[in-house]
Amino acid sequence: MKKIAFSLCMILAAALAFGAETLTMATEATFPPYEFLRGQEIAGIDVEICRAVAQRLGRQFRAENMDFDSVIPAVISGKADLAAAGITITEDRKKNVDFSVPYVTTGIVVIYRKSDPFKDASQLKGKKIGVQSGTTSDAYVLEQLKQEPERYKTSAEACAALMSGRCAFVIADIDPAKNCVKGEDSLALSDFLSSESYAVAVAKGRADLLAAVNETIAAVKADGRLEKWVADYTAESDKLKATATDASAAEVKPSWLSSAWQSFRDDFYLCFQKPSGDGTPRGMYLVRGLLVTIQVALAAIVLGLLIGFLVAVVRASHDKYGYFPFLNFVSKVYLTIVRGTPMVVQLLITYYIILRTVDSKVLIAILAFGINSGAYQAEIIRAGITSIDPGQMEAARALGLGYWRAMLKIILPQAVRNVLPALGNEFIVLMKDTSIVGYIALIDLAKGGDIIRSQTYSVYLPYLTVAAIYLVLVMTFTWLLGKLERHLRNTGADVVHNDS
Ligand code: GLN
Repeated sequence: MKKIAFSLCMILAAALAFGAETLTMATEATFPPYEFLRGQEIAGIDVEICRAVAQRLGRQFRAENMDFDSVIPAVISGKADLAAAGITITEDRKKNVDFSVPYVTTGIVVIYRKSDPFKDASQLKGKKIGVQSGTTSDAYVLEQLKQEPERYKTSAEACAALMSGRCAFVIADIDPAKNCVKGEDSLALSDFLSSESYAVAVAKGRADLLAAVNETIAAVKADGRLEKWVADYTAESDKLKATATDASAAEVKPSWLSSAWQSFRDDFYLCFQKPSGDGTPRGMYLVRGLLVTIQVALAAIVLGLLIGFLVAVVRASHDKYGYFPFLNFVSKVYLTIVRGTPMVVQLLITYYIILRTVDSKVLIAILAFGINSGAYQAEIIRAGITSIDPGQMEAARALGLGYWRAMLKIILPQAVRNVLPALGNEFIVLMKDTSIVGYIALIDLAKGGDIIRSQTYSVYLPYLTVAAIYLVLVMTFTWLLGKLERHLRNTGADVVHNDS
């Protein structure tokens, strides 16, 4: 136990030390040319600006990909130093963060289907309008049109919804809007609805950092770097979309069967081949995601078991013999809090508040899931302990075993054997529940599929593949548990036989 605590402390210390060196940028990489994924790497104009800030400060640099509505909270909570994601300066945001000088002036537009042309803003009222959640387009619909928008995680998703007729219009910043419309003959763009300026956001009170950002922006504007980045990244993101549309360009299809086969092949090509000829094949998101899922799930199961055993023994000992009143009280508080609040909220609290200075998201996820699962495992194991005849403990003690030894050697093995199916169930639930780690921008299997979907606009293949992989994972795990159960049952039979 001491060793584990020591290693955890070392990991925490390493994470803290690493965090101090690196300048972290929070962004949302589905916003070309400002930020987009080039294979596994985040590239774009905003990334270059923030990298130049890091260079000016002589610090390492890292960009973190997350949902747009998490980017500003990330700097407020200190999870990231800079937020840059084509962020528009607004009065509301200024109340929470400080903005650098603007580095570009742009605006939002309406994306519409040519079959249902857009003429002026009065047409928007009362219609279903797709937006990216948390953006100025979202605010436009709320404040100007006084209605709720249809919120999507990215503008690309909103666009897909527009094409499939789920919403009447989409409002988005001009650059992602151009990207959505490119190669889609059925869509077109309006003039600007309003003009906006992008800037880099930093947490309030970080005057030195803000000054460094402002100096960097002035410098890259003056020496032509900004202009070059805009030109280069616009050209690169144009190519990205071009490849996607080339590959999915529909031919005249003779029958529904061959048409389904054709679109499956196109999807497969998009999902598993290399995007725009460079970078890693998109399928690698699934492979790496799967490894993260397995890592988080297994480590959390082990941590949960440790906590579960401890809490269960404390609670059962207290109930039967009145031992450990204080620990019993602590355990009860722990169980109440963990079981009384949703997992996703616990994960976010761990990430943004409790372990805000810890860099490793895998470690954060393991701790959050381990602590959560510990509570459920504790109750299952406690049920197992209470199901054992008190005579067992009395006999063990009469034979001269101490309380803990009797518990560990005699009671717990039988208790676990009795509740193994219930424990297995809890492990499976935990394994699938890890799919919410996308909330803290950790790329697991589910998030990997989601990223592929956001790049290829194809929903079927990524999601069905992800579902199939989870299914195989859970089936393998269930099979292994079944084997363990049979093994324990057999050894258990021996014990009973020898005892009698
Ligand atoms: N400029 C918009 C905003 O700040 C959208 C930015 C984005 O989607 N990345 O709200």
